[in-house]
Amino acid sequence: MSEIIILAEVINNTLKESTAEVVTAALSLGGNPILIVPGTSPDSAASMAATYEGVGSVIALQDDCFSNFDSAAWCEAIASVAPPGHLLTSSSSMGKELAARLAVSRNSTIIQDVIKIEGSNITHPIYSGKAHETVSLNGPSVMTIRSNVFKPSGNGGSASISNVNTSSNLRTSLKEMVAKASERLDVSEADIIISGGRGMGSPNNFEKLYSIADKLGAAVGASRAAVDTWEEIPHSMQVGQTGKTVNPSLYIAVGISGAIQHLAGMRTSKYIVAINKDGTAPIFRHADYGIIATWEEALPILEQELGTLLG
Ligand SMILES: Cc1cc2nc3c(=O)[nH]c(=O)nc-3n(C[C@H](O)[C@H](O)[C@H](O)COP(=O)(O)OP(=O)(O)OC[C@H]3O[C@@H](n4cnc5c(N)ncnc54)[C@H](O)[C@@H]3O)c2cc1C
Repeated sequence: MSEIIILAEVINNTLKESTAEVVTAALSLGGNPILIVPGTSPDSAASMAATYEGVGSVIALQDDCFSNFDSAAWCEAIASVAPPGHLLTSSSSMGKELAARLAVSRNSTIIQDVIKIEGSNITHPIYSGKAHETVSLNGPSVMTIRSNVFKPSGNGGSASISNVNTSSNLRTSLKEMVAKASERLDVSEADIIISGGRGMGSPNNFEKLYSIADKLGAAVGASRAAVDTWEEIPHSMQVGQTGKTVNPSLYIAVGISGAIQHLAGMRTSKYIVAINKDGTAPIFRHADYGIIATWEEALPILEQELGTLLG
């Protein structure tokens, strides 16, 4: 019988919450999936993974290559322990790159950004989210699962854990990492996002968005025009076709026109609120709630109301 394998998303030996959603997606394909937890010291992440309900067994895969991302080495290590069958992982940028390599090494088909699984019918967006395609599986596949679509699995499980050590050849070695110091929530993990576009006028005005984000527990995103125009706004904040794909419960677009490439990254948000001074801006065609006003008018009122509501 062909197995169902889940590749956990682990960063610095910490299990990402998105893995619990991948477990739920995997369970729609069949029972007792095998969950592979990669790391240089994967013990605590593996213990956490073993509590996910429905997981059959956990492989704690230890390899020094997992100290930094090298998709060729990671693929080699993972492929050495993953049995044949369907393999699922998160639809992060790392997950997508690894999935592509694993699909080649396993001679499998690949389906990126899966949003629905019904039996062997798998649905995912195509043409930058303008259409959804449903394909039927006739053989083993590698899939990435879009975040915030599947309900996370509960924590009542107690799967067995086996430890496996590998030593894969790194194709690159990290000389230096210059990271932007940011304690802020990443857009790809947030349930609420407030994003600013070129209409914010200056990167300093993003402070207004940070202030509202702090009240809401939200992440701050940006359009590509904002990222390209102001170096203070990092690419990691960009939402859209060439940025991150997000699927929060609430997406607030401020001073963003709603170009098709921006919509590609956020149109599946559950609720979209747009604040734009131009009532004909395309974003209003996709917004559940639209406020035709400048952000200078709208944001102070929003912040004040949130202060009253949330204290
Ligand atoms: C191959 C390709 C890939 C791309 N990928 C991406 C991507 O990943 N993400 C992305 O976002 N874009 C992407 N783009 C760019 C995209 O086409 C748009 O240029 C971009 O999204 C526009 O950003 P914006 O809405 O912030 O700016 P603009 O189009 O300049 O819109 C600014 C908006 O702000 C409003 N505004 C101005 N002042 C105020 C104010 N005071 N208060 C309120 N509203 C105000 C204006 O009415 C306007 O609607 C891509 C383009 C290409 C060709």
